[in-house]
Amino acid sequence: MKAYEKNIRKVEPYVPGEQPQHKVIKLNTNENPYPPAPGVTKALEEMNTDRLRLYPDPTAAPLVEELAGFYQVNPDQVFVGVGSDDVLSMCFLTFFNSEKPILFPDITYSFYKVWADLYRIPYECQKLDENFRLIKEDYYKENGGVIFPNPNAPTGIYEELDVVEDIIAHNRDAIVIVDEAYVDFAGRSAIELIDKYDNLIVVQTFSKARSMAGMRIGYAISNPTLIRYLNDAKYSFNSYTMNQTSLVCGVEAVKDKEYFENGIRKIVETREWAKEELKKLGFHCLDSKSNFIFAMHPQYDAKEMFEALKKHDIYVRFWGSERIEQYMRITIGTREEMEALFVFFREYMKK
Ligand code: PMP
Repeated sequence: MKAYEKNIRKVEPYVPGEQPQHKVIKLNTNENPYPPAPGVTKALEEMNTDRLRLYPDPTAAPLVEELAGFYQVNPDQVFVGVGSDDVLSMCFLTFFNSEKPILFPDITYSFYKVWADLYRIPYECQKLDENFRLIKEDYYKENGGVIFPNPNAPTGIYEELDVVEDIIAHNRDAIVIVDEAYVDFAGRSAIELIDKYDNLIVVQTFSKARSMAGMRIGYAISNPTLIRYLNDAKYSFNSYTMNQTSLVCGVEAVKDKEYFENGIRKIVETREWAKEELKKLGFHCLDSKSNFIFAMHPQYDAKEMFEALKKHDIYVRFWGSERIEQYMRITIGTREEMEALFVFFREYMKK
């Protein structure tokens, strides 16, 4: 071993879902099957590339202001970053600096563990119950911060706002981050609790309901004090996280509320129909309120099904990890894509 090895920060990185370069039915990374709002396409077509000579606005003001208007908060309550992964990572760095462990569920977004390891933050996972629901009392103990997604991933289970509020209210001495990557498909957002609790940060993304995973935009909504701390950390890291193109396109996406709401409606309809179809095929599905379904079949091995699907160019997500060995996560695609998935399952089950 080289002497310098001991000074290297070693981490076990997060493993993102595959992005195959050939044409597949892609139901593995919770992307939206529909295009972004027409205004985004128009903005890209009309983009003044001369503007790219210059650095973008480090405050990302146009996007911050558009989001503030959309959520009826002040611009100093909004922080934007390069996807919610960037925002969450910045939140871990900024807010989780205690000797006490941070708390998050045992089955959840697997990036939380990676950031905790990267920043040397102690953590303790809290077991979801046997129905994969959050046990709120587990988050009452002393801690260095709390984070959970709502709806949770990969289960898709949404906890009503009173459960979320209860956890925030029991942690007034710690920061609580609610990761709402999928909330647009689910129900009420914790953003409505921002004025009531000064320890709350809500993080959302353009990658799911706004169909812009490739653009990389995420944001946090909180009170001005916590947003200032986040910006201080960001400016100590990289002043220009948001590129010019994302800023322009992000604004256009937020402006088109009707397109946003219609898109959500289509996905929710397909999801509810897909749950029924899966059940008819004998799958056990969790009651997802997200843009994916977490499902298992009592008679067929998940890994084998996952691999057979892949051979047929249908990509879903499978982890094989503890407690979820037999589950696959299926992103909601178009109705046609889901039909193709069901045709595959029918054939598979005939054998
Ligand atoms: N939070 C959760 C729970 C997610 O599933 C994802 C998507 N992988 C993210 C955050 C990050 O999404 P993005 O960086 O595209 O905003």
